Amino acid sequence: MEFPNAEIIAVGSELLTSARLDTDSLFLTEKLNELGVEVIRKSVVGDDRRRLADTITMALQSAELVILTGGLGPTEDDVTRDATALALDRTLEFNQQISDWLHDRFSRMGRKMAEINLRQAYLVDGAVALPNPNGTAPGEWIEHSGATLLLLPGPPRELKPMFERECIPRLRAILPKQVIRTLFYRVAGMGESDLDALIAPVYTRYTNPVTTVLAAAGDIQVHFRARSETAEEAEALLAEIAPQIEPLLGDRIYSKGGDPLQVVVGKLLGACSETVAVAESCTGGMLGERITTVPGSSSYFAGGFLTYTEAMKISMLGVDPDLLARETAVSEAVAKAMAAGAKERTGATYALSTTGVAGPGGGTEDTPVGTVFIGLATPTEVRARRFRFPGDRERVRGFATQTALDMLRRTLKRHEPPTSWMVK
Ligand code: AMP
Ligand code: MG
Repeated sequence: MEFPNAEIIAVGSELLTSARLDTDSLFLTEKLNELGVEVIRKSVVGDDRRRLADTITMALQSAELVILTGGLGPTEDDVTRDATALALDRTLEFNQQISDWLHDRFSRMGRKMAEINLRQAYLVDGAVALPNPNGTAPGEWIEHSGATLLLLPGPPRELKPMFERECIPRLRAILPKQVIRTLFYRVAGMGESDLDALIAPVYTRYTNPVTTVLAAAGDIQVHFRARSETAEEAEALLAEIAPQIEPLLGDRIYSKGGDPLQVVVGKLLGACSETVAVAESCTGGMLGERITTVPGSSSYFAGGFLTYTEAMKISMLGVDPDLLARETAVSEAVAKAMAAGAKERTGATYALSTTGVAGPGGGTEDTPVGTVFIGLATPTEVRARRFRFPGDRERVRGFATQTALDMLRRTLKRHEPPTSWMVK
């Protein structure tokens, strides 16, 4: 098998409704990825023999490993065995050993086995039975024209041990020796489509490494996964793409090892024994929360103020009431005053502030929903920048939190200010 791809087919009409979620395929994908097998497609098919057979036929055209879950029970609606036999043009063969084992299992529990259970004693001709210690349905391992088909039971408590005990060792034995190396960038300060437009011309030229882009508000992860027979070759594949990607993203890359932004900022502050405080309005504590998720943050996080009303901004941070009246709470001047107040009252080296309109209500023509001012007081200056973030309340708050942390990171690294979403 040459770097095989897998396709997963989850069988069961209930999986097409909100009654049951297909979780088996998520488990299998994780395990397969660990083995270096890429899952290229998965589907959910109702309990229909003909449609399932068609799906199997189609899967065999694109994947070397096809895994079916569910539909191995004893009842009329369990069609996986039948559909597989149909798709492969094979018969179902009675297996005396499985039959004996089933009778035995029932008599040990003091029950008489119903006749329909004998359906589970039939295997697709040529299949190897995979024992099921947690249920009655054996799994099946089937070789077919260079491909491998696995039939596995649907209930997760049966599928998981069967896959781990019976399938993984067998797959290891037939899979080519391969090494996977990954390169992982985290990027702040730009949107997913902008990022993709920038780097797609590079990564689309490669099928190995495989590129994955995952986006959250103001936080994008770019993964490159290289597979090869040796570590040196896999690393060489990454070493070829990295110097093409990094200059395109520049200082928007905030971590290469996977550290989230609050960890990166924490390390930068720790390295120069500096501290930060926060004064939050529209983020409502999210900034302090993010910073304090990091163990050891007490060495660089002074604390914060959650000042939602004007009265709190005045009493807690010393914001001038006249300034608030003149500029309104969502303004550059107030963001600066909040940051300055937090820095002064905590004695921290830096202070970040947020004030904005998270929505859905509260927007005006001058200050539409999504407008956020982020302030930063440093030992030498106090500044604030205006942003316009997209999305609903949660996204705006997420963007504001991420962008505030990124502003501090850029200051600590003496980089340019963040540009996307910034309103000049
Ligand atoms: P079956 O093997 O089709 O008789 O499935 C028996 C039970 O296993 C179902 O009623 C579900 O509760 C569970 N099940 C089946 N397929 C899946 C799946 N893909 N993910 C999670 N649970 C499943
Ligand atoms: Mg079913």
